Amino acid sequence: MGLLDGKKAVIFGVANEKSIAWAIARTFREEGAELAFTYANEAVAKRVFPLAESIGVKLVLPCDVTSDDDIARVFAEVGREWGGLDILIHSVAFANREELKGSFLNTSRAGFALAMDISAYSLIAMVKEAYPFMNERGGSVLAMTYYASEKVFPNYNVMGVAKAALEANVRYLAEAVGPDGIRVNAISAGPLKTLAASGVGGFHQIAGHVEAKTPLRCNIEQQDVANAALFLCSDLSRRITGGVHFVDSGYNIMGM
Ligand code: NAD
Repeated sequence: MGLLDGKKAVIFGVANEKSIAWAIARTFREEGAELAFTYANEAVAKRVFPLAESIGVKLVLPCDVTSDDDIARVFAEVGREWGGLDILIHSVAFANREELKGSFLNTSRAGFALAMDISAYSLIAMVKEAYPFMNERGGSVLAMTYYASEKVFPNYNVMGVAKAALEANVRYLAEAVGPDGIRVNAISAGPLKTLAASGVGGFHQIAGHVEAKTPLRCNIEQQDVANAALFLCSDLSRRITGGVHFVDSGYNIMGM
């Protein structure tokens, strides 16, 4: 028996086999969930469709999360196909490459708005559309964040600010949908070599630093995030909501 038997999950953010969302998808499938994927554009679609097929995911829908229409279409389609929904995974972020290096002072108005829109606001838009379809007994929403929301990390710049907004969104949304039995949480993952991470200047130095300085003296793997996601999206965590949960080998407890 799987921990997610009978549950239906929509996963935003599979781009390739290194994506955190892909590790979550494989784990959820192994635990019995039925899945739907979304993809941002045609370039991503080329990689997402074969991955979906490899684990028997039939519902694969286009969605640029800057578009309210796209998001509404995804959940209308999911509602039509499934009649209801148990789990929503938000594993999506973006900032222009030039905003992810050098001085934070150079953050542009347009770059700030774009990073906020894709990486933070989109969670509100998704939950708003998913909510009418979500299972009142055990519905779970999960977003991916990073510790640069709380502390200054070189080059994270506007993405650190967007993650701070995302984490606040998690708390406000948890309160908004909690009375209907739906939970909203975030995982704050340690650094992982993915497409998104490759956009951050000097990323490899962060991973090396973390390995040397964490209590557990190791970097995390995508599977570590997927295991925590499994717990947070299963009924095992049914009284846990509004939290940011670290999966970072303990890095966040260190002062120096
Ligand atoms: P990834 O590149 O595999 O995933 C990012 C996803 O965002 C991609 O699927 C991309 O297509 C999608 N995306 C970007 N703009 C979009 C748009 N306009 N519409 C729809 N989708 C869009 O990288 P990842 O590291 O797996 O990132 C997933 C999440 O995990 C992100 O929120 C990221 O900030 C977070 N995170 C990553 C790390 C890390 O070190 N890799 C650490 C902590 C948190």
